[in-house]
Amino acid sequence: MESKKALSYDDVLLAPQYSEIKSRDDINISTSLGGPYAEIRLGLPILASPMDTISEGAMGITMWQEGGLAVIHRYNSIEDQAAQIDQVVVGARGHAAGAIGASGDYLDRATALYDAGARILCVDVAHGHHLHVKNALYELKQVFGDAVHLMAGNVATLEGFMALAEWGANSIRVGIGGGSICSTRIQTGHGIPTWQSILAARTAKEILRSDQKDVKIIADGGLRNSGDIVKALAAGADAVMVGSLLAGTTECPGEIMETKKGKFKTYRGMASKDAQIEWRGTTASLEGVSTVVPYRGTVVPILKELERGIRSGFSYSGALTLRDLHRKAQFVMQSTAGRLEGTTHILTR
Ligand code: IMP
Repeated sequence: MESKKALSYDDVLLAPQYSEIKSRDDINISTSLGGPYAEIRLGLPILASPMDTISEGAMGITMWQEGGLAVIHRYNSIEDQAAQIDQVVVGARGHAAGAIGASGDYLDRATALYDAGARILCVDVAHGHHLHVKNALYELKQVFGDAVHLMAGNVATLEGFMALAEWGANSIRVGIGGGSICSTRIQTGHGIPTWQSILAARTAKEILRSDQKDVKIIADGGLRNSGDIVKALAAGADAVMVGSLLAGTTECPGEIMETKKGKFKTYRGMASKDAQIEWRGTTASLEGVSTVVPYRGTVVPILKELERGIRSGFSYSGALTLRDLHRKAQFVMQSTAGRLEGTTHILTR
């Protein structure tokens, strides 16, 4: 049996390229999720994860105001989730996506979220290349037609991406097992380094494009800094989805815990024991962990810093737009010594 090589963000770097960009302010890092509502442009290509310690109304409002988008989590009652969507739609006159499952009451949830103003629904399943997702996407298409944008995931392979696109997804979350709170690879032995999955999705996307189908790639999980985001976008992603980068901020749901060591907030995987017990009352396979992270105040300066890093990244590749970046990006593989050289090594000398 042959096993394929799969690289992760730390295995690769972008080669700096000739640039004529005078100011980083001239760079347009905006994106669109395509499909119905393709006209919704995101000034910042960042989506907040549908997790109960990341995305509710407050995160939805701030993400929208800062140019990004939150996917409001589904681990609450339908009424609660609809109220969170309403908060963003009315509170910022803005957009928020709503997460739904692929079985049980997902159609009722979808209808309530639509009625509350959600125009982007996200079929939020750990293993998206699955019959349940196929059936759910068909059903959603039948009920809503082109009145909603369908996001779905997660997948890690070319075949997975092609399948979800064929089943009607307009944008697809790519990445299995790379999240900061994720233990899927340890628990199940499955997953693919996310950078490699994005390349596979890009190939799928190009095949689909030659068939006049435009399906967008959302690189999801494992992004630790703006450098990783630039690598994900350059590899072919149209947007990224992040959890830990936003965790511990004021806009995240949850109490601030005051301890002798400082202030903290909880950040947890939705397949962690804590989350499963709270939302289902029981546990299935544990594929995530729960932790606390330092409280960091509002998410706004964090998003601004990420934006500055992304703009700078575009400029090193001589790219004025995301399209330019997709076209121009040149990756090199790096050695362990190269990776160490790229760290701020005076701090560890
Ligand atoms: P992070 O940005 O590295 O923290 O990863 C966030 C992503 O991890 C989310 O968008 C989900 O795709 C994924 N995720 C959330 N909860 C879990 C879990 O419990 N197990 C595995 N993956 C998870």
